[in-house]
Amino acid sequence: MKPVYLDNNATTQVAPPVVEEMLPYFSQFYGNPSSMHTFGGNVGKKVREARAKLAELVGAQPEEIVYTSCGTESDSTAIWATLRSYPEKRHIITSKVEHPAVKNLGEYLGRNGYRVTFVPVDKAGRLDLDYLYKHLSDDTAIVSLMWANNETGVIFPVEEIAAQVHKRGAVFHTDAVQAVGKVPIHMADNQIDLLSLSGHKLHAPKGIGALYVRKGTKYAPFLLGGHQEHGRRGGTENVAAIVGLGKAAELAASQLEEENTRVKALRDRLESELIRRIPNAIVNGDPAHRLPNTSSIAFEFVEGESILLMLDEFNICASSGSACTSGSLEPSHVLRAMDVPFTAAHGSIRFSLSVYNTAAEIDLVIEKLPPIIDRLRKMSPFWGQKEKACQIIS
Ligand code: PLP
Repeated sequence: MKPVYLDNNATTQVAPPVVEEMLPYFSQFYGNPSSMHTFGGNVGKKVREARAKLAELVGAQPEEIVYTSCGTESDSTAIWATLRSYPEKRHIITSKVEHPAVKNLGEYLGRNGYRVTFVPVDKAGRLDLDYLYKHLSDDTAIVSLMWANNETGVIFPVEEIAAQVHKRGAVFHTDAVQAVGKVPIHMADNQIDLLSLSGHKLHAPKGIGALYVRKGTKYAPFLLGGHQEHGRRGGTENVAAIVGLGKAAELAASQLEEENTRVKALRDRLESELIRRIPNAIVNGDPAHRLPNTSSIAFEFVEGESILLMLDEFNICASSGSACTSGSLEPSHVLRAMDVPFTAAHGSIRFSLSVYNTAAEIDLVIEKLPPIIDRLRKMSPFWGQKEKACQIIS
């Protein structure tokens, strides 16, 4: 039975036309794109075509795209490449709600000789811009802020921030892993220096990502090796995945409008119906500045993991806002940074849709989830005395 898959911020189905485009590059066209012979040269040509399609999706020049293995590699490369290009600068700015790909690197750098500023967010997940600008200094090498948050979908005004960061002479990087294919991106019209993306979030396979590097940006390669990617990332190209990402980029460009109309309407209906039918259900994150496909809802006084297990019985896939750390379920760092009360953070569920979702699937969730929450609340020690619980916790 096909799952009702509402976990597209975790990963997406590889689009059937993407699979079709990739297959010959495993079997028939296996040449090395760097080879001198025509057999390899034809593969090189396909890699160049794919690069042009990806560049077009984000309004960039093909030479500004560097293929990587994933979003995490793109993020790490962007930050390390900048720090090594400006060894005299020892300060980094990022936010409290970044994906671990940036957050954990920031913490590591903080323990290893760098000064790292983690900009806070408000209760709606919006960045404190005054705090950010106040902390910019001549010593700031790089500011790294996500375009859209993977848990709440909240969008940061990265284009506006990039312009301010440039005025202080720092490099600006954005982790756009969740934004690409969901919001319009046109690099020719902004001042962002480095942008990370990941194939498996936009219906390409896992194991392929890219880093946009604006022409003229100082860059010290992370992987030294062959001359691939114009010497910016050594290693024989993952040809089939690159071809797949090119096709996925072409599809994403053609489906951007559908993401922002039909998919958004499905998300909005799911959200408003759940809020209407379930008491004590609250949307996490600024509804006015959000990805069109993401909804994070806190169902107070229940455990997110129990909700997920019960949804799983109906083959409905979503994510919770908790992470299993040292045996206990901790609310995620994103919800904690937003000061979401403990009782709500624990019961937070993220639904993330894609163009493959249908109205019938959304109807199923709207039908199945309210009785699940009702059942769980009847078992919850806090639900019966929620006023008291709120006082203890707040
Ligand atoms: N950045 C964000 C915002 C993400 O959501 C993810 C993946 O969930 C990543 C980075 C890491 O991407 P990858 O899984 O391709 O390494």
